[in-house]
Amino acid sequence: MEEVEEESKRRKMSLRSSEKPAQEEQEAVALRRPHSEISVKMDSYVLDCNICFEPLKSPIFQCEVGHVICSVCLPKIGENCHMCCKATRYSRCFALEQFVDAIKVPCSNAKYGCDKFIAYNQKEKHENMCIHVPCFCPENGCSFRGSTASLLDHLITKHEWSPTNFQYNKPQKISMAQDRQYVLFVGEDLSMFLLANILTDIGNALTMVCIGSHDSGPSYSSKISAVDRVAREKGTFVFQMDPLVASSSLLGGVRLGKFFLLVPPELVDESTHELTVNVRIDKIKP
Ligand SMILES: [Zn+2]
Ligand SMILES: [Zn+2]
Ligand SMILES: [Zn+2]
Ligand SMILES: [Zn+2]
Repeated sequence: MEEVEEESKRRKMSLRSSEKPAQEEQEAVALRRPHSEISVKMDSYVLDCNICFEPLKSPIFQCEVGHVICSVCLPKIGENCHMCCKATRYSRCFALEQFVDAIKVPCSNAKYGCDKFIAYNQKEKHENMCIHVPCFCPENGCSFRGSTASLLDHLITKHEWSPTNFQYNKPQKISMAQDRQYVLFVGEDLSMFLLANILTDIGNALTMVCIGSHDSGPSYSSKISAVDRVAREKGTFVFQMDPLVASSSLLGGVRLGKFFLLVPPELVDESTHELTVNVRIDKIKP
């Protein structure tokens, strides 16, 4: 008799605990359990919405059977579930929300020095801002890629480039062979700029890019002018200002953008086949 009473007391207790709101219960479990991490390998498709294929993030909804859908796609589908085709009502899927928030993946740039682990559904956002996105070697046929610091080292040791060190807000005069493809400038803060020289039918096109694949750092403007060095026709020069130098990882080389300086053939020194160019780079946002 006593045993039966005990049993019924126990049942009441467990009934009471299962009546607790789901979230409160989950929090209580999380508090009781020590924090621990596990490493897993999984097919990422279970973390993506199977309509838009974007990573699932809260709020996530499910049909009465349990087929999940993201909050962006939900208003776009009709009354029937996209998977089981049954007329259904959708409800929040808290278990999966908790699950996707707990999944942390390494940044794709881990091999280039990023040690961040990010929620799977924040991975793309992080990688668009990640300062460890690799830059590419601009030399033809070279497959090197790495951080800006390792690219600088690579250009000097492997291709024997000699960078021109410069100070911001001050003009720098250089001479370059008419057919030289690139001149590398390194600022006081070790930011790297590439002056690309592209030969066209009507002269040399000069353009400046900042080496780096993220726009979150400082911004720069550039001024490039080419002068007639022998002053055969005194005062002959061309000038171009780029109010916002583009950043580039140099993937696929350097292409001419909106701003470039076209240097007519008359400005090329006939005896040395060199161009005399003034370059000034200003930091416009720290
Ligand atoms: Zn979706
Ligand atoms: Zn369904
Ligand atoms: Zn990263
Ligand atoms: Zn290289």
